[in-house]
Amino acid sequence: MATPTTYQGGCFCGAVQFTVTGEPVAMGYCHCESCRRWSAGPVNAFTLWPPEAVKVTRGADNIGAYNKTPQSIRKWCRTCGGHVFTEHPGMGLTDVYAAVIPDFPFRPGIHVHYQECRLPIRDGLPKMKDVPGEMGGSGVAIAE
Ligand SMILES: [Zn+2]
Ligand SMILES: [Zn+2]
Repeated sequence: MATPTTYQGGCFCGAVQFTVTGEPVAMGYCHCESCRRWSAGPVNAFTLWPPEAVKVTRGADNIGAYNKTPQSIRKWCRTCGGHVFTEHPGMGLTDVYAAVIPDFPFRPGIHVHYQECRLPIRDGLPKMKDVPGEMGGSGVAIAE
């Protein structure tokens, strides 16, 4: 077996640094209202990892956390405010935003929460009304 590749990531200022190792469980775009409002952006590019694949290598005590719901613990750097992760305890996965691991080859496979979309992306990828059945959603696909 090939040695899993490790990629470096970090916050906007660099006070928080981390690595991800191996392959994510899923990659894509989330169009939900929560991601949009928290990020102040129209869409969130996510990569979902088993928590043990994500290691904070610098600034662990500089990471702030907020959870509006028990499903999503959103984390950021206390110095620059840059977002780094969202932990999803229910799924047992950690979302490492694609934007904070610039060298990682992001290959999106799906759009989730597309019923809440404000920025249509007509890339031919599946568009889920909410999330796939195996993630606890309806599994219903909708038009681009
Ligand atoms: Zn920072
Ligand atoms: Zn979202």
